[in-house]
Amino acid sequence: MNSLHLKSFIRCKRKAWLDFKGKKSYEVWSPHKAIDKINQFQIFSEFCNSHIYTGLKACENGYQGVIGFKIKGNLFQDINAEIRPQLLVKTKGKSIWGQYKYLPAVYKLGHKTTKEHLFDLAFSSMLLESFQESKIEKGLVISSFSKKINLEEIYLNKKLRKKVLNVLLSLNECLEGFMPEITQDRKKCTICTWQKFCDKEAKENGYLTDIDGIGSKTASALIKNGISDTQTLASYNEKQLGEKLSKFNDKKYEKATAFVKQAQAYTSGEPYRISNKNDTKDLLEKTSSGFYIFDIESNPDDKHDFLYGFLKINHWFTKKENLIYEPILNLKNNKEESYRKIVEILFSQKEWPVLHYGETEKIAIINIAKNLNFSFEEIDALASRFIDLHTFMRKSWILPLKNYGLKTVSNWLGFEWMQKNVSGSKALYWWIQYQITENEIFLKKIIQYNKDDCLATLQIAEYLIKNQSKKN
Ligand code: SF4
Repeated sequence: MNSLHLKSFIRCKRKAWLDFKGKKSYEVWSPHKAIDKINQFQIFSEFCNSHIYTGLKACENGYQGVIGFKIKGNLFQDINAEIRPQLLVKTKGKSIWGQYKYLPAVYKLGHKTTKEHLFDLAFSSMLLESFQESKIEKGLVISSFSKKINLEEIYLNKKLRKKVLNVLLSLNECLEGFMPEITQDRKKCTICTWQKFCDKEAKENGYLTDIDGIGSKTASALIKNGISDTQTLASYNEKQLGEKLSKFNDKKYEKATAFVKQAQAYTSGEPYRISNKNDTKDLLEKTSSGFYIFDIESNPDDKHDFLYGFLKINHWFTKKENLIYEPILNLKNNKEESYRKIVEILFSQKEWPVLHYGETEKIAIINIAKNLNFSFEEIDALASRFIDLHTFMRKSWILPLKNYGLKTVSNWLGFEWMQKNVSGSKALYWWIQYQITENEIFLKKIIQYNKDDCLATLQIAEYLIKNQSKKN
């Protein structure tokens, strides 16, 4: 077992097992992991003033920062372990290399220092201490906020070390045993490299957490009441279920209906129309003389939207080839220029609504309008043109899907992205690559991806319009 297994184990036991014994062909490349690695390297490099080198030789030469160094050793005599410290930082002391020693350091993305960081540091210190023949009292957590490096010192006391040893023992037991169950908290799965593999098994076994709105706590409550899979839930009496869902108080019957209907849609593969109000008619009227589809690509850690994409639609059901798509890049030094272009597009057709999927787009435009000192009335008027199709879809349909994300819904409608295995995180990965290399090919990929996102949103809008009169 190694540091990476420990990190996975803290998140999900099954992930640690799969990382160790799983069939690699079932694992999917993760842009999150790649982005994390790039950020990590940049921050470490800045922290060490670029004096960062690789492997054992770097320690022997006494360089300030050392990466890519692995140390093997034994825990409790008979357990083989390997540490892979993210970074070793030179400090005062005495070790096998001379009048200095190294401390382990980890990189932190958010504000919170978690068990993952503490355990990684404590585990690293255990084998590093005997390797460099020098005691390690503390480890470092390095992060960066608003372009400033932050350093936190973590004292690796006895209590923490003991805790980690216990976790390592459980990890060892887990790796030697059978594959653990899929985690109850499926939120953890969204950025996991084994998601596809686990999703398939969850669907086959009718996991309740596959049903939109059912998290680990609701799933446990349902299981306690004898509803253990999606099929059972789908055939359950809504009123009786409502009585069992007391934790939702006044909303219990509403929730029960939603869960049963969602389970019915999911197991049968058939969508269910919730409302037959005039909502879609209203959408059709508003868009009859034309509309925009709008989608942005962002770097949430940097709070930076790097691409705004507009698709101009004069008439419904126009051939895709005849639509005009306009990408506006927001390179860091030309913010004003991109804002000017956005305003120009939005006000070239003052009455047109702007269709988007999810709340981010509207928030971004309101922020731009504030930045440009628009009056309250102007901001209100602009915001009222935005129609969120994600909310719209959820209000009008129950779909036979696990979630209502843009990719999931449009894939179900048969939409295909020009580039394979893409996602918002992949676009972010390309953006980071572009910033490092300045190779325009990455911009082209991002623009193609965003154009496809706009077209996927359009396909969802067309579905809503085409099926407006359907009844259940
Ligand atoms: S997809 Fe979910 S259950 Fe499967 S290994 Fe990853 S986190 Fe665990």
